[in-house]
Amino acid sequence: MSYRKLCTVMLCAAALAVTACTHTTGSSIAGVNRSQMMLVSSNQMNAMADEQYAAIIKKAKQQGKLNSDTALTQRVKRIANKLIAAAPQLRPDCKNWDWEVNVITEDTLNAWCMPGGKIVVYSGIVKQLKLTDDEIAVIVGHEMCHALREHSREQASQQVVTQGIVTVAQLFGVSSGITSLGKQALQLGVTLPFSREHETEADELGLELAWRAGFDPDAAPKLWQKMMDQSGSNPPEILSTHPSDERRIANLQALAMTLKSQKLNP
Ligand SMILES: [Zn+2]
Repeated sequence: MSYRKLCTVMLCAAALAVTACTHTTGSSIAGVNRSQMMLVSSNQMNAMADEQYAAIIKKAKQQGKLNSDTALTQRVKRIANKLIAAAPQLRPDCKNWDWEVNVITEDTLNAWCMPGGKIVVYSGIVKQLKLTDDEIAVIVGHEMCHALREHSREQASQQVVTQGIVTVAQLFGVSSGITSLGKQALQLGVTLPFSREHETEADELGLELAWRAGFDPDAAPKLWQKMMDQSGSNPPEILSTHPSDERRIANLQALAMTLKSQKLNP
């Protein structure tokens, strides 16, 4: 590539990066307002998430594990629906999302939310950790905020840049490279950890979401302390994607105090 052509491509890439910067969520008490570079479309990410989610749900159904514990399913759905109802306060367009909440009966101590609002809570995390409603709201709120902030899409976009696998021209269309990056990014929060920055955002905005939905914000530091206490011999799966430490707990404690000093005004 000639120097001139290279300069043109670089300028296009810079312009694209600027125009691709967006704010996924609006203003928040928690102060999560970082601008994000999005080079992959949300439609692409959501379509891939829908496909993966449908496969997981189908398998659970075949195994008789899908929403088979009626009481627990009703409980989790009641809590999640309160969070879903409050979510447009942080991101107005999510009221049009096709949210789904399912409980899989499995001794897995985990929960996640795929792009576009596809939630799974495993029975193991609720039962083994004897979670209260407020603690379930903290976990589900945290996972929902990875989706509201579109962290998977952002991660796929960052990889587009760092791996340089597509040309500027390809970014305007669909490329197989983006599809494979998108599929990798969908594993974030499910089997792969998000970045520390994404985790902090999901912690803070998730706690605000739980508070806006009427749950007790003090449940967050207690919950992650409970998780840490379990991390010795048989650590919960969720800790492999959500490493917990004293700093995280102190951060949540401080935010819980800030939220409780605010008047809720949706
Ligand atoms: Zn997380």
